[in-house]
Amino acid sequence: MKFYNIKNSNEQVSFVQAVKQGIGYNDGLFFPVNLPRFTISEVNDLLEMDFINRSLRILLSYVGDEIPVNKLLKCISSAFIFPIPLVLLKNNIAVLELFHGPTLAFKDFGGRFMAQIISELNTEKLMIVLVATSGDTGAAIAHAFYGLNNVHVVILYPEGKISSFQEKLFCTLGKNIHSLAVNGDFDTCQMLVKQAFSDSNLKHKLKLNSANSINISRLLAQICYYFEALAQLPKDLYYKIVISVPSGNFGNLTAGLLAKSIGLPVKRFIIATNINDTVPRFLYNGYWDPKSTITTLSNAMDVSHPSNWVRIEELFRRKSWSLSKLAYGSVDDSLTVATIREIANFGYISEPHAAVSYRVLSDQLRNDEFGIFLGTAHPAKFKHEIENIFSNNLSLLLPCSLLKFSKLPILSRKISSDFNQLRDFLLSLA
Ligand SMILES: *Cc1c(COP(=O)(O)O)cnc(C)c1O
Repeated sequence: MKFYNIKNSNEQVSFVQAVKQGIGYNDGLFFPVNLPRFTISEVNDLLEMDFINRSLRILLSYVGDEIPVNKLLKCISSAFIFPIPLVLLKNNIAVLELFHGPTLAFKDFGGRFMAQIISELNTEKLMIVLVATSGDTGAAIAHAFYGLNNVHVVILYPEGKISSFQEKLFCTLGKNIHSLAVNGDFDTCQMLVKQAFSDSNLKHKLKLNSANSINISRLLAQICYYFEALAQLPKDLYYKIVISVPSGNFGNLTAGLLAKSIGLPVKRFIIATNINDTVPRFLYNGYWDPKSTITTLSNAMDVSHPSNWVRIEELFRRKSWSLSKLAYGSVDDSLTVATIREIANFGYISEPHAAVSYRVLSDQLRNDEFGIFLGTAHPAKFKHEIENIFSNNLSLLLPCSLLKFSKLPILSRKISSDFNQLRDFLLSLA
């Protein structure tokens, strides 16, 4: 199957090439040339299948015969090794828990699938995956690639600006995972990564890959769990289902809309953001007017230039759907806190990202609809903040896997914002 660069549709590459390249000329994102479409009876069959075999069918429809079926199946079954429960909060609202992977955030899905594909494809030359992170992505990518052959992962993060829990999760691994604590902020890290990709001398000597959420393999993997949500519900709810997606860079929503485009029987999607609300304002008044990013409780959604939005516009253009059909809402921190308390009344402890998506869903859900909101992170990741919200009358239980990492030493090297230091380090890996 072919993928084209949204900025210039003359640039067309195979799935394998799109995964390896990550991004097209002029920073254009890749998008499928053919949009697969399952018939209603095929969709019904899909929803009867188990998660792994269903995901194979879905991903085959995008990958085609580029990767042998048995290899693709191996990638899928090595990547998706954790449960995806849909938990009922009240008679018409459920939460899809996407946080049971190794790093307790939904980014494990895309990260692990991408890692499996890359290690399956990359047998000859050592590849270096370079990523800048403010937390969740680095952890997911580090764990996804840990111990795989022929791939090194180099993660840049702003020193002192991520939580100590996050740091423990991906800076203690060693082996083929290298973490660099950069003296600067997240933007500095991103700038260094960009410099590496535009350094022709480095490109010549090393096989560099980026693991940002713009990689098409990460997006496609996320389509699979939307089907898994519906597979857990009685059929008479199909077409009444509304899904609320807590959005930052809009990869998760892109995947949901792609799921709808191939035939997922949902009624509509709702965009939920925190006060970094570039998209809701754009849908409201038609002006694309990013403001500077504000730190919030739902910090993985603190994005004001959401890079996947162009893919959503492209999908709507291709399908002749109208953007005015997309519902949206944004939630500030005090409402987020109040919502975490409200959800606790149902006997469920959530966290800031899920709470944002619940709030917008609950406010906009109509009588004849059934709502699903996405739980994108494990509440234990926000243990301190959440216990505070309940005035420490509640104590969150930690998965034992976290305990293990909290005891290990940090292995990061420190670097300055001087590109030469990153460059020397990368060359030392070759
Ligand atoms: C990354 C992330 C999001 C935002 O997802 P996008 O695909 O970037 O819109 C939401 N919640 C959590 C916990 C995340 O890590």
